[in-house]
Amino acid sequence: MRILIVEDELRLADTLRRLLLRAGYTVDLRHDGAAGLDEALSGIYDLLVLDVMLPKMDGLSLLKTLRKQGSTLPVLMLTAKSELRDRVEGLDCGADYYLTKPFESEELLACVRALLRRENREDAVGLHWEDLTLEQRTVSLRCGDKTVPLSRKEYNLMALLLQNGQQVVTKEQILLKVWGYDTDAEDNSVEVYVSFLRRKLEHLSSRVRIRTRRSVGYCLEVAQ
Ligand code: CA
Repeated sequence: MRILIVEDELRLADTLRRLLLRAGYTVDLRHDGAAGLDEALSGIYDLLVLDVMLPKMDGLSLLKTLRKQGSTLPVLMLTAKSELRDRVEGLDCGADYYLTKPFESEELLACVRALLRRENREDAVGLHWEDLTLEQRTVSLRCGDKTVPLSRKEYNLMALLLQNGQQVVTKEQILLKVWGYDTDAEDNSVEVYVSFLRRKLEHLSSRVRIRTRRSVGYCLEVAQ
């Protein structure tokens, strides 16, 4: 699980980072709203921990932009103010939960676990797109009454493509999300796995195709 923290108070940011690292998460840190938004849009995160008062772009604007771009990334907002207006505005903008500073470490970790669990529950009922359903329980892909088993890498790659639909996923995003940062993946690994998935889609007689956007990445499309 990969978490992005956008927080400009350096000491608090560092405390949060160490806390989440100790809890076993992979953590990245950004100190201003503009850099935070770029990173949040990368599509490689499972959760965003977002401060409200930030330089360059405030947390609420970041969140609004993120949601406008279609991102469903779970967001935990941190606010120094306890005024109702800010909390309501945060939730209205698409935050999933908020914590008012100062908060206890245990409280933060509990929120993080709850938000990540919610995300996983959605996965567990299956990810749907057009005529396809990706089933987490059986690690398989279904179309109508046909089902094919997937390898773990095929599953993760298919999940990423289904989550993005017709939006292009870059090769870098795929490498980060499916293979991870410390990857020893060969240059053509992504192509190889895409070709495996294409064969399986054909076998399923799905109308969904994986389209190559040359030198950009991949996206899904529906055959007419
Ligand atoms: Ca701040």
